[in-house]
Amino acid sequence: MSLTPDIKSNRLSNEVISDNFSDMKLPLTNKQVLVASERCLFCYDAPCIDACPTGIDIPLFIRKINTGNVHGAAKEILSANILGGSCARVCPTETLCEEACVRNSCEEAPVEIGRLQRHAVDNLDTTLPYPFTRSANTGKHVAIVGAGPAGLACAHQLARNGHQVTIYEAASKSGGLNEYGIALYKLVDDYTQKEIEFVLKIGGIDIKYDQALGRDVTLNQLRGSYDAVFIGIGMSDTNALNIPGEELSGVEDAVDYIRDLRQEEQLENLPVGRKVIVIGAGMTAIDIAVQSKKLGAEEVTIAYRRAQSAMGASIHEQELALKNGVNFVCNAQPKQIIGSASGITSMEFNKTILDDTGKLTGTDDIISINCDVVFKAIGQKFEGSPLGNDEKPALCQRGRIAVNDHYQTSLEDVFAGGDCINGKDLVVEAVDHGNKAALAIHQRLSNNKNSKQQA
Ligand SMILES: Cc1cc2nc3c(=O)[nH]c(=O)nc-3n(C[C@H](O)[C@H](O)[C@H](O)COP(=O)(O)OP(=O)(O)OC[C@H]3O[C@@H](n4cnc5c(N)ncnc54)[C@H](O)[C@@H]3O)c2cc1C
Ligand code: SF4
Repeated sequence: MSLTPDIKSNRLSNEVISDNFSDMKLPLTNKQVLVASERCLFCYDAPCIDACPTGIDIPLFIRKINTGNVHGAAKEILSANILGGSCARVCPTETLCEEACVRNSCEEAPVEIGRLQRHAVDNLDTTLPYPFTRSANTGKHVAIVGAGPAGLACAHQLARNGHQVTIYEAASKSGGLNEYGIALYKLVDDYTQKEIEFVLKIGGIDIKYDQALGRDVTLNQLRGSYDAVFIGIGMSDTNALNIPGEELSGVEDAVDYIRDLRQEEQLENLPVGRKVIVIGAGMTAIDIAVQSKKLGAEEVTIAYRRAQSAMGASIHEQELALKNGVNFVCNAQPKQIIGSASGITSMEFNKTILDDTGKLTGTDDIISINCDVVFKAIGQKFEGSPLGNDEKPALCQRGRIAVNDHYQTSLEDVFAGGDCINGKDLVVEAVDHGNKAALAIHQRLSNNKNSKQQA
C-alpha cells in the first residue's frame, strides 16, 4: 500500500534539528585569524578587490587585522559595504574574492577572506562612537521602496550624505531575503535584525511597514512627494511550471516555505515530506533541498532540465547538497505531477537532449519519481503589478526594471537596484547597486537646489 502523501512534522527531534541548523561556518579563533591574515600577500592591484562587487579594500582590512587594529578593519569593510557582516556569512566567496585570490595559484587555497571579514565586523568595538557621521541636513527627502539589502544600503549612503530617507516596506520586518530567504544555517541568531539596528543608527531613516508599492502607495504619489525614488523591491513571486498537477496540494513555492521556516521558532513543528522533489538549479533550489534534508526528509531530489554543469548553483553549493544526501536528476524536463485532491504521489519528466543547434528538446523517454512534496524554485517575478499602470519605468527583456550605468530608470527621478534589475541576484550585488544609486541620487540632488514639500 502506498504511504504517500507522507507529510508530517517532528521527523527529527528538536535537538537534532537545532544542531542541523546551527551556524554553518564557525568564526575563526584568534590563532586562526593570525594564520589566515599572515597568508595575505597584500598584492598591488589586488584582484580580490576587483572581484568584490562592493570593492572592499581587502588587503587593507587584512593588514589592519594583522596589525591588531580590528576596529579599523571593520570600519574599512563597512564603509564600502554596510552589510559587510551578513555578506561575510552569505557571499559565495568561492566564486568572488576568494576565487580571484593569487594564493590559489601557488598553494591551491585562497586567503580566507570571508571568514576574516566576519572576524573584523563581529569585533567592531561598540563602546566607541558609531563609525559613520551624517553630513549636514540637505533638506532633500528620498523615498525608498523595499527594506532589503539594496534599499538598506541605499538608505544608509543617502543618510550619510545628509538626506532624509523614508522606506516603504511591504512586510512587517526589514531585511528582505536576508530576513525571509537566506538559508537559516548561514544567518543564525537573528543576525539580520541586529545588523539593521546598526544600519539605522546613522539616523535620518524612517521605515513605514506594511506599505506596498502598487497597493498602499503609487509610484506617482511618491514622485509627487519626494525629491527622488529608489526601487529595491526584489522579485517576490515564484515563476510557474505551467504543467498539469501544479495546482495540487503538496506543490509549493520554495521561497514561501523558506520564509515560513525562517520565522518558525520550533523548527520540528514544520510539516516535511518524506520524499521531496525540488525543481530548479540555483541557490534557492540547493537551499530548499538541503533544508528539507536537515528537517528530516528521507529522499530529496533536485531535478533540472539541463546538464548538471549548466546549473546556476556554484560547484561549492552543489557539493553542499551532495554532502547532505541530496540526489541530482539532470536532463529532466517537468511533464506532469500525479496525484489527487488528497495530495501528490509522483512526478513525471521528459528526458531532454541538446539538438545539433544547441536547442534543448524533450524526448519521449519518461522519468518518474515518487514524491510527497514538490518545491518550485525556478526563478522569481514581480508579485502583482507594483509599478502600477500610470507612467512607470521601462522594463528590460527579462521583465525586470531597466536602468542605465547610474541605476537610473527611464524616469529621471526614479532609480532601482538589487534583484528587481538584471544582475547576479546576490546580497553583495544588491548592496553595490544601492550604494551606486545613492551616489547618483546624491549628485542629482546636489545639482538641484529646490526640494519637494512632504504631504
Ligand atoms: C532562497 C534564497 C536564498 C538565497 N541565498 C543567498 C545566499 O546565500 N547568498 C547571497 O548572496 N544571496 C542569496 N540569495 C539572493 C539574495 O537574497 C538577493 O539577491 C538579495 O536579497 C536581493 O536584495 P534586494 O534588496 O534586491 O531584494 P530583497 O531581498 O528581495 O528585498 C526586497 C524588499 O522589498 C520588499 N517589497 C517587495 N515588494 C514590495 C512592494 N511592492 N512595496 C514595498 N516593498 C516591497 C520586500 O518585502 C523586501 O523587504 C538568495 C535568494 C533566495 C530566494
Ligand atoms: S589576492 Fe589574496 S593574497 Fe592578494 S591581496 Fe587579495 S587576499 Fe591578499
